[in-house]
Amino acid sequence: MMSLFLIPPGIINRLDSIRRKILWQWNKERRGYHLVKWKTVITEKRVGGLGIKNMKNRSKDLRMKWLWKYSNDNQNFWGSVIKAKYEESDGWMTKEVTTPYGVSLWKSIRELWNEFKPNTKIKVVDGIKTRFWKDDWHAEGNMETLFPDIHNLVLQQQSTIADLWTPQGWNFVFRRHLNDWEIPRVTEFFRSIDQFSGLEMGRDRLQWLGNNKGIFKVGAVYKKLNHPNLQLLKWPWKQIWKAKIPYKVSCFVWLLAKEVVLTQENLMKRGITLCSRCFFCGKTAETVNHSFIQCKVTGQLWNLFLRRKSISWSMPGRISEALFSWEEAGTQAKNRSNWRIVPATIWWTIWKERNLRVFENRESSMQQVKLNCISTLCFWCNQIYSNDTVSIIDVLGSL
Ligand SMILES: [Zn+2]
Repeated sequence: MMSLFLIPPGIINRLDSIRRKILWQWNKERRGYHLVKWKTVITEKRVGGLGIKNMKNRSKDLRMKWLWKYSNDNQNFWGSVIKAKYEESDGWMTKEVTTPYGVSLWKSIRELWNEFKPNTKIKVVDGIKTRFWKDDWHAEGNMETLFPDIHNLVLQQQSTIADLWTPQGWNFVFRRHLNDWEIPRVTEFFRSIDQFSGLEMGRDRLQWLGNNKGIFKVGAVYKKLNHPNLQLLKWPWKQIWKAKIPYKVSCFVWLLAKEVVLTQENLMKRGITLCSRCFFCGKTAETVNHSFIQCKVTGQLWNLFLRRKSISWSMPGRISEALFSWEEAGTQAKNRSNWRIVPATIWWTIWKERNLRVFENRESSMQQVKLNCISTLCFWCNQIYSNDTVSIIDVLGSL
């Protein structure tokens, strides 16, 4: 349904509201906190989002697929029906649908054409469909825009490439004799179309500019719409989402990097009255950066790995920086995918221990916390329990 019909904004909002409640675990008994803005949640992982589908863009992407199908193959039954009903504006698309009545199915698809078309280029094969001046087939751009003066000089302004191309070359008819001062410009024009390799069997078709094969794939436009300013952003998405750890742990690290995990400090920001103290050292307020980076207890877990490798590492101030910097520190690691999961292992261990202290009023010894950390690492590296085949020593040795 979504691939054909425009979803009304009201329905998208209602569906999003349901998705939000599921994500933040809202139900009759419990009202979860919305830790991250929905707008961020539905952006791509690469740019700091959670990668949950943006339904508006997804629906647009799916409907564009029909534009692709229509412009490249409208000889089939549905294409003929559409063509008969709406008439073609050129060989590639129907006229714009302006009627306010009737079913809006094609209307909602056709209105995406102006957004779709700039991402395509015409591949000339038999030249029958491609208009020389109007269509975008030349690598340098639209011929009418590049050579408006020559366009005015020739008689064949509506002709297709098949009309103009002969086995002997291009066949243009000028309105009048050329003036001497027009000759260099005409030469330039002919030079620009000199590379044309001739016509072949087959049909002219559209090529998608977003990938090497020139084929439109569902997801292509979606990525483009959801990837604004990719270059500008430094975000450790690989360290979060490509690490071989359970998905729920990746989500936890994502929340940590966003600095929104519900530490006491973040609960206070949400209006809860508390006396915020670190549950490990008790010396300072419980913030994300203190508990997971600066606290001396957490430091002992970092040292477990750093001492083994004799790496001196200056602790960054924030989670996202720590992820980058840990990756850099591990360029010499034997197994970089195991090295990559160390920060998540430390943070998950700390969080579990912290929750044990908060909610169950129990605490483990430092020795036990260290052991928990290494066992978790071992489990994630091997996806089996540490007492099965690979010993803890082996895992540390593998880093
Ligand atoms: Zn502390």
